[in-house]
Amino acid sequence: MHKKFTIQNVERVINNLILMKPLILALTLPAFFIIYPPDITHVQLYSFADIDVAIQTTCHRTCTSPVLFINLHDNENTSVEAATVYLDKTGGSLVQLKHLDLRNICINLQDQGYTFDPNRIFTPAGVQATLSGFDAYSSEADTLVTRFANTLLNRYVTGKKLIIALHNNTDSLYSILSYIGSGSEAPNAAEVYINAAMDPDDFIYTTHKPLFNYLAAQQVNVILQNEATVFDDGSLSVYAGRNNLPYINVEAEHGHLEEQLQMLKILSPFIENLLRETVETKPGEQKD
Ligand SMILES: [Zn+2]
Repeated sequence: MHKKFTIQNVERVINNLILMKPLILALTLPAFFIIYPPDITHVQLYSFADIDVAIQTTCHRTCTSPVLFINLHDNENTSVEAATVYLDKTGGSLVQLKHLDLRNICINLQDQGYTFDPNRIFTPAGVQATLSGFDAYSSEADTLVTRFANTLLNRYVTGKKLIIALHNNTDSLYSILSYIGSGSEAPNAAEVYINAAMDPDDFIYTTHKPLFNYLAAQQVNVILQNEATVFDDGSLSVYAGRNNLPYINVEAEHGHLEEQLQMLKILSPFIENLLRETVETKPGEQKD
C-alpha cells in the first residue's frame, strides 16, 4: 500500500536522509578519492651557495607517468595554468622551478654574483655561454650550475618516454617566423609548418619527426629541430635531441591560455598512443 503524500511523511523522509548523511558520505567519499585522488604537491629545495631554488612537483592523480611536463622559467605562468587545467583532466605530473617569479637564476659565490638561464644548462657549452652572457664566469660557478642541471636530469628526465616543456613568449619578439627565411633560428629547423590562421607566437617545437607530421596534419604551427645543425645553446631540446628523447615544447604568447590549452589537447591522442605503445612493449623488447 502506498504511503499517503503528506507534509509529515515528506519531513520524515528528509529527516531520515539527514540522519543517514554521515553514512552516505562515509561510503561514497573513499570511492570518490579512488577515482579522483587529490593533487599532491611536494617541494624539493635545491641549495646553491646563498639561495635555495624550489623544485616543485605536482602529481595529478599519478606521480609515475612516463610523460614529464616541465616548466623551467618561473615567469612563464600562462603555460603552467594551461598544463594544470590539462593535467586535472588527464592525470600526470608537472615539475616547476620556483625562483622569485624570474626567468633567470641569480646566485652569489665568494662575493661575486652569477646569473644563468635554467634552460641553457643541459650541455657544457650551454653552461659556459649562459654564465658568460650575464654577470661573470668562473669554473666554481660552472661546477655548481652543472651539478644542478645533472640533478634535474637524473631525478626528473632520465627514464621518461616524453618530455613536454612549457614556455611563454612576448608578442612578436620570438615566434615561429624566427625559424624561416633569414630568421635568427632558421639554422635550427629541419622542417617548419605554419598555419597562417594561427598567431605566430603560438607554436610547438619538437625533436620527434612522427609528432611533427601529426601536428602538421592537424594544422598546428610546428617546428622540427634539425639535429645536424642545431646550435648547442644548452637548452633541454638540444639535450633531448642528443639523447633520442622525444621532446615537445608547447610555446604560447603570455596570456594565451586558451590557445596553449588547445595545443595540449591536440597532443592528447599522440600522448595516449605513445603511452599505449610503452605499456605494450615488454621489458627488453625494443621498438624501432
Ligand atoms: Zn621559457
